[in-house]
Amino acid sequence: MTAQVPDPEPAADPVTAQAARRRTFAVISHPDAGKSTLTEALALHGGAIAEAGHVKAKSGRRGVVSDWQEMERARGISISSAALQFEYRDHVVNLLDTPGHADFSEDTYRVLAAVDCAVMLVDAAKGMERQTMKLFDVCAYRGLPVITVINKWDRPGQEALALMDEIESRTGMVPTPLTWPVGIAGDFRGVLDRRTGDYVRFSRTAGGATRAPQDRLDAGTAAEREGDVWHTAVEEVALLEASGAVHDPETFAAGASTPVLFASAVLNFGVDQLLDVLLASAPAPSARRAADGHARPVGAPFSGQVFKVQAGMDRAHRDRMAFVRVCSGHFERGMAVVNSRTGRSFSTKYAQQVFGSDRSGAEEAWPGDVVGLVNASSLHVGDTLYADEPVTFPPIPAFAPEHFVVARARDVSRYKQFQRGMAELDSEGVVQVLRSDRRGDQSPVLAAVGPMQFDVVTHRMEHEFHAPVILEPLGYSVARRTIPTDVEVLDAQRNVEVLWRIDGTPLAVFSDAWRLSAVQRDHPRLVLEPLAADRSA
Ligand code: GDP
Repeated sequence: MTAQVPDPEPAADPVTAQAARRRTFAVISHPDAGKSTLTEALALHGGAIAEAGHVKAKSGRRGVVSDWQEMERARGISISSAALQFEYRDHVVNLLDTPGHADFSEDTYRVLAAVDCAVMLVDAAKGMERQTMKLFDVCAYRGLPVITVINKWDRPGQEALALMDEIESRTGMVPTPLTWPVGIAGDFRGVLDRRTGDYVRFSRTAGGATRAPQDRLDAGTAAEREGDVWHTAVEEVALLEASGAVHDPETFAAGASTPVLFASAVLNFGVDQLLDVLLASAPAPSARRAADGHARPVGAPFSGQVFKVQAGMDRAHRDRMAFVRVCSGHFERGMAVVNSRTGRSFSTKYAQQVFGSDRSGAEEAWPGDVVGLVNASSLHVGDTLYADEPVTFPPIPAFAPEHFVVARARDVSRYKQFQRGMAELDSEGVVQVLRSDRRGDQSPVLAAVGPMQFDVVTHRMEHEFHAPVILEPLGYSVARRTIPTDVEVLDAQRNVEVLWRIDGTPLAVFSDAWRLSAVQRDHPRLVLEPLAADRSA
């Protein structure tokens, strides 16, 4: 595949040229499919680090971290997302990390708003799992192209053709393998490169800690060496050819087909191929549509969107960091930018580029890059920052919460701190904080995609805002967007309540889907819109 990566198109201006060199993507997968392992392997191949194991150690990482991150670590999960950047074959690859635990999938949704492509990592034995499907739906909703990697081929698993059927039936995308495994799952010898017909033979290294050597052999030599195993791969590839499972850039870009690769992240097999496909086929950053419908070309003056806000990354400074995806223009540290929501200017003196757990000053960034801004207390998830020419990007959709609790300050004399904490956690997107007419301002309702988000609230309210909370579960599980004129009718229904978002949108929440259907049946004129990327929609 080496020969297939085109040189970036020569472009007229430096910004467009820098954008063309960039690939910004995230990995979506079910926990344990190997996302951390693949991230390390990619970084290793990209030369970002000398040896695997440095990107995201799941345990034993020391340093200045906040209590709540320690709490997450103790549970073997990481909720701190960062971006990993490395150069590879004259391109710049930005891999945006996503949290591993399903309860924090809302963070993953936001990261998907900041990438141009997703890599869907599938465990060869388990196939399409729940969380993979949920995140795939978000990609489909956003129209993101998806590259599929079948991982753990070194271990016994399903048959490759059966996996292709499963991907097609579950996602609706036509899988178009670019490589095909030589050897069944558990006996991974190498891959057949469908574009050249060659055999790429892998060799193991101790522990997979270094780049795995690979040789490229022609079909004749492969047949001599591998015998039946090679012939099986050739026959299966002929079946794929006959069924039209052939890579097509247009259907890939439209999300109708997905190139597939086979890999073993832990052995570093198939990682080069993934990088080559990213460079050759994944989209570079391109014009982004603004809320008014106009597209902002990458060559326009600087603009970017906040996709994540994180507090307490550094306990010594009690800082709050906003992660901004650069959408257009050239970002230079210290430049004056404006927050389009507030109209106020924001200092970028403390811009930092984020690499794993290390942070170093970013002097400049280009479309597709991620910049971390400290002292970001005025920035909210979804905010647009710009220089010179004003622009506002559409808000990042808030996803359908499925868990609801009512919150109260344990100590009423700490109500001020309680309110401050709630506002902060809402603007960071830790949970959605909703107002209930029935319950009053003292008792907001918190809405989450996963219940562990509430643990973060409890912990941070106590340790960071010194206002311990009592959370009582509410028996709702379905939310729909409604309009103010329908609120009265809805609020009168049994097992239904109307809650208000900070932006003034009313949400109707129902005990379950049956209750929702019953209300819809009895009152067909009510506006009850599903929230974005709601699977039950
Ligand atoms: P994550 O939860 O998706 O980040 O998954 P990890 O990267 O932590 O991997 C989960 C487990 O699967 C770990 O024990 C890994 O060593 C193992 N693993 C990851 N990739 C492979 C692979 O390609 N082959 C095998 N056999 N194990 C793998």
